[in-house]
Amino acid sequence: MECKTEGPVIGIDLGTTYSCVGLWQQQQNRVEIIANDQGNRTTPSCVSFKGSERLVGEAAKYEAALNPTNTVFAVKRLIGRKFSDVTVQSDIKLWPFKVTSGSCDRPKIVVRFKGEEKLFAPEEISSMVLVKMKEIADSFAGSATKNAVVTVPAYFNDAQRQATKDAGRIAGLNVMRIMDEPTAAAIAYGFGKESDSSVEKNALVFDLGGGTFDVSLLSIKDSVFKVKATAGDTHLGGEDFDSQMVKHFIDEFRRKHGKDIGGNPRALSRLRTACERAKRMLSTTTRTAIQIDCLFEGIDFDSSITRARFEELNIVLFRSCLETVKRCLEDAGTIKESIDVVVLVGGSTRIPKVQKLLQDYFNGKELCKGINPDEAVAYGATLQAAKLSCQGSEDVQSLVLVDVTPLSLGIETKGDVLTVLIPRNTPIPVKKERIFTTCYNFQSAIDIRVYEGERARTEDNNLLGQFTLDGIHFAPRGVPNINVCFEIDADGILNVTAEDTSTGKKRHMTLMNVDRLTNEEIELMIEDAERFKAEDEENRRKVCARNKLESFAYALKNAVEERKAVKSMPHVHRESINRVVKLVIKWLKHKELRSEHVYERKLEELRNKCLPHVAQMYQEYYVDFDDEDDVSTRFDQLRIGYFTRKPKTEGDEGEMTD
Ligand code: ADP
Ligand code: MG
Repeated sequence: MECKTEGPVIGIDLGTTYSCVGLWQQQQNRVEIIANDQGNRTTPSCVSFKGSERLVGEAAKYEAALNPTNTVFAVKRLIGRKFSDVTVQSDIKLWPFKVTSGSCDRPKIVVRFKGEEKLFAPEEISSMVLVKMKEIADSFAGSATKNAVVTVPAYFNDAQRQATKDAGRIAGLNVMRIMDEPTAAAIAYGFGKESDSSVEKNALVFDLGGGTFDVSLLSIKDSVFKVKATAGDTHLGGEDFDSQMVKHFIDEFRRKHGKDIGGNPRALSRLRTACERAKRMLSTTTRTAIQIDCLFEGIDFDSSITRARFEELNIVLFRSCLETVKRCLEDAGTIKESIDVVVLVGGSTRIPKVQKLLQDYFNGKELCKGINPDEAVAYGATLQAAKLSCQGSEDVQSLVLVDVTPLSLGIETKGDVLTVLIPRNTPIPVKKERIFTTCYNFQSAIDIRVYEGERARTEDNNLLGQFTLDGIHFAPRGVPNINVCFEIDADGILNVTAEDTSTGKKRHMTLMNVDRLTNEEIELMIEDAERFKAEDEENRRKVCARNKLESFAYALKNAVEERKAVKSMPHVHRESINRVVKLVIKWLKHKELRSEHVYERKLEELRNKCLPHVAQMYQEYYVDFDDEDDVSTRFDQLRIGYFTRKPKTEGDEGEMTD
């Protein structure tokens, strides 16, 4: 294995609703899950556009109710899909932000940014979340991180994996590996477990998150993690449970008030937020209230929901999880009795009914809740990053992962039938070849159409891409030998070639033309991302300068209102300070940010004009107002008695009232 990676490496769990980042600490040989600037170890996968500002993470989620049409979330449900996809169509109906169809039937997210309408690809929005996660790690590592392992649901198809990799590239990351989430979670569970590791154990990872559901069955022995089968639903999770509750309350609102809030993005967004909170509450209590002031046309909404009702609304979805578990067991050729441990991953596994159904299914077996369901995936991804970069010690380097491909892959043959070259659950990386031939006499070209899926007829499967192999050797039908080769790399990404063995003419599949971004598009997005980064930095500096000025102005205002000032500062000085401070505070109310220098100049002016008078008031203390540091903290420190008084000398009092 090539091991040349320099600098810190990270593992990113890029979730539908929340993302999590782990940093490999080479010195301590361990994973550190990094908290964001709010102190939370998971960060909302959310981006909000506000005027000329772009917010990502916590700040963006906070904007969702205030600015619903420009706050984008759950793009993982769009990435690598077509706009016309039925799941995309049903999702966008419930979302407050707009999604439209771009070129090649690709979904594009529409927002207002810097006063104009702007279109973003899902890859771009995801890249913004990735940048945020990278920055969280950077600030902890103290240097820029570049190399990352990014996780995807095991059930993600080729296009979705490619698109996630592209998002990483746009974010300026070197994506060392695209890794399956349940495999990552299994490593987090199994790594470092000393007890009889030489006995093979079967672990079933049940990952129910915000938008996706994944089941994987792995065997763990020593440090070898072998995926035996995976199954899942790229479209099932907490958001669906929220949606059921949202629908329930929309109906209730209609019944109670005769009004439909369905078309009002702001109301919908507030209702959705309240429903998610209620859902979480119902994991620990049996009834919870929902109260939203002025939800729609001035009407307050006041209601409640019980755990039983919530379960009833979602029971079909909950039960469908078990169907997926069954399918996974069947695929692996195992029975449920041979499962040694069931590992719970993802926030939605906290729902008591989900746990109950699962436990009953496994004949009352205790479920493993020992690993943190929110962090396990990022933890495993970071271990993998450490291994790939050769930064781990022996135990990490000896980890062996054997992943499988989640869907069967093949080409269309005569009669629109899918001929499978790589069946699902084949260990990857893998290379399979097969010889095909022509169906007509003297056929000069052949269309290679590549599909993924489990159905017999191609029209029921998913077309990944197609290309034409022309210049076929002139011959009656059935004579030419066309060698078709499918190769899946360690990221689970497919490469297809077709070759006429008699002429040696070769063609690669170019998935790009079908639903991937082109190289030029990605380059443009990288440029955009770099520009955004520079703009964000400039914005940050402006906001910082503005805050400095504002806090200084308020500190002055407070200082002259203090008893000491009223007593000892000449009236004219107090009046003049009050006047300039008021003007500055009014000036600061201006909405648009001004440049950093404008604020700095204003601050300098204010300092020169007012500070000497205030400083004079505090002459009897050892306090240094000239320090470049924020002067306003000086006032606070004075107030709490931080500074010591100078020893009193004769004549002091006389000077004070000068
Ligand atoms: P993803 O990886 O898909 O982003 P997560 O694993 O972070 O998702 O899980 C997020 C989901 O878990 C959200 O839908 C959230 O509402 C749900 N969730 C978190 N905590 C709870 C809880 N206590 N009860 C029920 N659902 C929860
Ligand atoms: Mg997840």
